[in-house]
Amino acid sequence: MRDVWILRLSHRVPRDQRVSTHLALAARALGATRMFYSGTRDTEFESIINMIIKNWGGKFSVKYIDDPVNIINKAKSMNYVIIHLTMYGIPLNHIIDELLRMEKFLVIVGSEKVPSKFFYISDFNIAVGNQPHSEVSALAIFLDRIFQGMELEKIFPGGVLSVVNSKRGKYLIDSLK
Ligand code: SAM
Repeated sequence: MRDVWILRLSHRVPRDQRVSTHLALAARALGATRMFYSGTRDTEFESIINMIIKNWGGKFSVKYIDDPVNIINKAKSMNYVIIHLTMYGIPLNHIIDELLRMEKFLVIVGSEKVPSKFFYISDFNIAVGNQPHSEVSALAIFLDRIFQGMELEKIFPGGVLSVVNSKRGKYLIDSLK
């Protein structure tokens, strides 16, 4: 089973709180197992994500790290392929077949301008289209391509809440009620 970690660079408070939260929600829901973030430590952001994990289950964690290069080197030592999502990179469509032969990824996304060292430390700099958009949309598309849609079938054990999908209604199961 593929394993994907996320590294969010330079989280800024309050500017990035909403986008970093959406990034973590998307990362968790679309197949990633860990998210690291650098920049400013934000316990409010962490508690929001930990509440989501408690309620909806599954294996996911969010962790602040002082120096992002440390986690990149740790991932490299564990044979994770280092991916940097950037509109300046090589098109995802051109490299996806090669990536699908790999198992473990650490995916780097920026917030403010990304220092050039991350372009050189990464194994691949990959563009999700060559237009500026968002770390959330770029990550979501990357995860869907890597998991080939199977992330949408993922089970999240241990949660309190779950949804019964339906054509029209809204059916939420609360196992505590
Ligand atoms: N202003 C920053 C700069 O100029 O580097 C980037 C802001 S951008 C909204 C934040 C992040 O979104 C980028 O660091 C990149 O990870 C991701 N992103 C935005 N557009 C992308 C694209 N077309 N392909 C891949 N990643 C993209």
